Amino acid sequence: MKADIHPDYYDTTVTCACGNVIEIGSTKKDIRVEICSKCHPFFTGKQKLLDSAGRIERFRRKYAKFQKESQ
Ligand SMILES: [Zn+2]
Repeated sequence: MKADIHPDYYDTTVTCACGNVIEIGSTKKDIRVEICSKCHPFFTGKQKLLDSAGRIERFRRKYAKFQKESQ
């Protein structure tokens, strides 16, 4: 076995632009990324859909109440 064929391996924190910090092992220190699994549209898209659905539902309830009161 050769001893020094692997680069130094650190416990690294990856800091995302959204504020999420991920701890990984890497050959680099203090990695900064602009997108991660917490803020990537692929992962957040579902959450956004649920949010907007909730907003539509609230609007519908409010509007139904408004219609009842104005009759
Ligand atoms: Zn992120």
